[in-house]
Amino acid sequence: MRKAAIVTGASRGIGRAVAKRLAHDGFAVVVNYAGSTKDAEAVVAEVKSAGGEAIGVKADVADPADVERLFAETLKEFDRVDVVVNNAGIMPLSPIGISDVEVFDRVINTNLRGAFLVLAQAAQHVASGGRIIALSSSVLAKSFPTYGPYIASKAGVEGLVHVLANELRGRNITVNAIAPGQVATELFLKGKSEEQLAEFTKMNPLERLGQPEDIANVVSFLAGPEGGWVNSQVIRANGGFA
Ligand code: NDP
Repeated sequence: MRKAAIVTGASRGIGRAVAKRLAHDGFAVVVNYAGSTKDAEAVVAEVKSAGGEAIGVKADVADPADVERLFAETLKEFDRVDVVVNNAGIMPLSPIGISDVEVFDRVINTNLRGAFLVLAQAAQHVASGGRIIALSSSVLAKSFPTYGPYIASKAGVEGLVHVLANELRGRNITVNAIAPGQVATELFLKGKSEEQLAEFTKMNPLERLGQPEDIANVVSFLAGPEGGWVNSQVIRANGGFA
C-alpha cells in the first residue's frame, strides 16, 4: 500500500508542485483547495496520467468541520496519512492601521487558524514515521511595511511547529516549517510592477526568483527517508535572501 500525503492549497503554485513531487516520490496525494475546483482537478489528472494516485478534496483550512472531513476522506480513500503539508495561504498586504483589522482577521483566519486546525488533525492521524510540514515565509526576517498581518500569521505558524514537535514526543513524527522567499507564484507576483519584481529578484544573491519546484525539492527531502533526523526546524529556502 502506498503512503499517503495531504497537501493543502495544492490547486496551484507551491502546493501544486509539492503534490506532483510527492506523487513522483511514490505517495498517494490529496490535493486540497478552497475554491479552484478546475485547477485542482487538473493537478489530480496530471498525477494520475503520470501513474500516480490522487484525489481532490475541497475544504477551507479555516473551517474545523472541513478540515476534519479532509482527513476523514483521506483515510477513507487511502487508509492512512503519512505526510501532511500545510501550504494553503494568502497574502493581502495592509499597514497596521485601525481600518485594516478586516485584513488582519482574514489572514490570521486562513494562515494561522488554518495551520492550527490542520496540525491538530495531523497530530491525531499521522502514522509513526510520518512527517508534518508547514509553510512559513522568509519575509519574517525583513519586517517590510504592510506585511504585518502576514508576518504575524507566519510567526504564529513557526511557534505552532516547535510546540507540536514537542507534543509528538515518542511518536516518531517530525514537525518542521519551510520558509520560502520570493517564489514566482500568483501569491507573490500579483500586484507587483515590473520594477518591483526586478527589485525583489535582486534581493537574493542568486538573483533569480524561486520556482515552486525549488520548494517541492525541500518538501521531498523532509518527507523522504533522508529527512528523518531533521525535526522542529525552520528551513529557509530562499536563495540566500537573508
Ligand atoms: P498561491 O496563491 O499560488 O496558492 C495558494 C493555494 O492555497 C491555492 O491552491 C489556494 O486554492 C489555496 N488556498 C487559499 N486559501 C485557502 C483555504 N482557506 N483553504 C484551502 N486552500 C486555500 O500561493 P503560493 O503557492 O505562493 O503559496 C503557498 C504557501 O507558501 C503559502 O502559505 C504562502 O504564504 C507560502 N509562501 C509563499 C511565498 C512566495 O513567494 N510565493 C514565499 C513564502 C511563503 P484556492 O484558489 O482554491 O483557494
